[in-house]
Amino acid sequence: MSLMDITSSFECPLCESKNVIKWGGDYKHSRADIAGVEESLYTLGGYQIRKCVLCDLLFKTPVLTQLQVSEYYEASTADQWGDGDFSFARRADVFEQKVLNFGGYGRVLDVGCSNGAMLASWGTRWDKYGAELSPIAATRAVERGIKIIDIEKGEEGFSEYFDVITVVDVIEHIPNPREFIGRLLKLLKPNGVMLWYTGDHSTPFWKFEKGGYWYCDIPEHVCFYSLESLAFVESHFSLKLLLHERYTHTRDRRRLFRLIQQLFKNAAFMVFSGWRKIFGLNFGIKRSTYPNFASARDHMLVVFSKKSS
Ligand SMILES: [Zn+2]
Repeated sequence: MSLMDITSSFECPLCESKNVIKWGGDYKHSRADIAGVEESLYTLGGYQIRKCVLCDLLFKTPVLTQLQVSEYYEASTADQWGDGDFSFARRADVFEQKVLNFGGYGRVLDVGCSNGAMLASWGTRWDKYGAELSPIAATRAVERGIKIIDIEKGEEGFSEYFDVITVVDVIEHIPNPREFIGRLLKLLKPNGVMLWYTGDHSTPFWKFEKGGYWYCDIPEHVCFYSLESLAFVESHFSLKLLLHERYTHTRDRRRLFRLIQQLFKNAAFMVFSGWRKIFGLNFGIKRSTYPNFASARDHMLVVFSKKSS
């Protein structure tokens, strides 16, 4: 760690600490699109990952603003979201069961509900709400019986309204989590349950590959959490952490095959990029980030409850 890293002016977007260090090297996204929209609105360029020493959050710099991200999602076409129902592969049944373990049926809000497939697969006893930036995906969700609300507009009749809030594959997209989590909590009833599903950076391959890990390489992924970051979330927002379990991102019947294949590819990339540094050899490989490693158990399912004040 160099002196420059310690004295940098970066501030943690979760705990606001300035005790932030650079984590890993300089990277360039290997993909140039956000939500399936080609990188035409803004130039993404290279990125670095910073680590907050206080709360263990990793965050990407530079990062698009929330407004810029919204523009990408608004420009997103039906193709990207499709009509697909990936609720089984995406463990929608597991999420429903976990939530029911800590409370009963009631009003549920799925933040970033996409085309509504997840909530549509949940039982009929739920009163289902969603929030979604992509208008095309939101229209599909409405057809699936999900009531769409705009959480950007604040409480407006939804103050302490929901029994359950789900944040699945979403929190890693949020550049200002402190403000975002605070906003969600205003919508949640006391003793209500909030479920997160996101990457867990305290997993072995991620720690080794650092900012070059496949999950960081996705342009719209900007913040990465660990159990330690969740402890900060718990204490700062008066939440109680009820559950933390690790999973692979999706269910995959051929997981073992893919794990071996991806281990091999990642190891090969490590060797080649080492040779590239030492001998200046290139082998035609241009990327600075590691190949996909989605067969690793690098996701966490987290359930919090909101303490009653
Ligand atoms: Zn922090």
